[in-house]
Amino acid sequence: MKEFNPADKIQDLQYFGEFGGVNPSISDSSTYTFLSAKTMFDTFEGNAEGCYLYSRHSSPSNLYLDKAIAAMEGTEAANVSASGMGAITPTLLQLCGNGDHIVSSRTIYGGTYAFLKNFTPRFGIKTTFVDITKLDIVEAAITASTKVIYCETVSNPLLEVADISGLAKLAIKHNLKLVVDNTFSPLSVAPAKMGADVVIHSLTKYINGSSDTVGGVACGTREFINSLKDVNSGASMLLGPTMDSLRSASVMKNLRTLHIRMKQHSYNAMYLATKFENDGLKVVYPGLESHPSHKLYSSMINPEYGFGGMMTVDVGTIDKANELMELMQDRNLGYLAVSLGFYKTLFSAPGTSTSSEIPLDEQKEMGLTDGLIRFSIGLDNDIERTYQMMKECMIELGVL
Ligand code: PLP
Repeated sequence: MKEFNPADKIQDLQYFGEFGGVNPSISDSSTYTFLSAKTMFDTFEGNAEGCYLYSRHSSPSNLYLDKAIAAMEGTEAANVSASGMGAITPTLLQLCGNGDHIVSSRTIYGGTYAFLKNFTPRFGIKTTFVDITKLDIVEAAITASTKVIYCETVSNPLLEVADISGLAKLAIKHNLKLVVDNTFSPLSVAPAKMGADVVIHSLTKYINGSSDTVGGVACGTREFINSLKDVNSGASMLLGPTMDSLRSASVMKNLRTLHIRMKQHSYNAMYLATKFENDGLKVVYPGLESHPSHKLYSSMINPEYGFGGMMTVDVGTIDKANELMELMQDRNLGYLAVSLGFYKTLFSAPGTSTSSEIPLDEQKEMGLTDGLIRFSIGLDNDIERTYQMMKECMIELGVL
């Protein structure tokens, strides 16, 4: 019998099941046989590239999804994880240790912000939060201890745009790693092609797109991904945020429709943003000329997939925002829920939900007002009808 080599297997099968099924067979094992004790030893020593060892390290189903997402992001390799935070936290802990420093965008997902502000200092890692749209401010924050620049392509929730090529130049100049969370802009933007070293997604959002699981991925060089999975020193291997094989198989099936979904999310968001702005509302959407980074973002995106499905509307006060969201939900225009990338429109007030980890004074400083509603625009077929119905809600509540 020949020793089982998953690298061969993936090449052989591409994405067919082992019995010829159009879907790869789902691997349903936590542990794997070795034909010789020597190969097992070599695998633990990191000298048997490609052998399955134990599913916290990797599994055939996870490797299929890794490969597909690496291909999408244009990186050599990827490593899926049980959540987006399960990709972000090991990546940063792999790149930084005691005494190191991170320069991070100040407008990022609240969980990531809390991790950098409250958690990593326990390990001696300090973070300076900056306005990521100002390259001179980013550069001024870099010190001799800085190891990483961290940002989101399009930030949660303020939809600020990071100039990834500009940040990549800074990273090269100062010998740093640029880590980019691309959750809001899959397919539209390929950060690795602009010089990002590691690209992260919360698969929970657009990539899976059906709000039935959490998941994440880190994409990068083969060397970096192997370092995350190293049995002796890999943060993913040792902290253990492993995605289950059944889940990776289901995420992979949803990934196949991402291109169609992204086009529709972007089309619908552009439609509503344009209409509501013309009606006089305070709308932020990177596809609008009024967005401060509209020109930059236009030069970064693959226009086929548009400017994405996220927009914000400021309705003045948190009470108004809450009333409006409840009324829109009553009229079946979407759900009052956090998260994004669902077929149905989702809305929430980030100041009291997904960004509530950020202290109020800092929210204010970064421009996160309490009347701000974040919309993840759904896949509605008749977006003009949605617009008319949303407008009626706004007129009824005196927002318009
Ligand atoms: N990154 C961004 C931009 C997010 O919006 C989120 C979650 O909302 C995360 C990361 C964290 O992902 P997860 O909830 O899958 O851990």
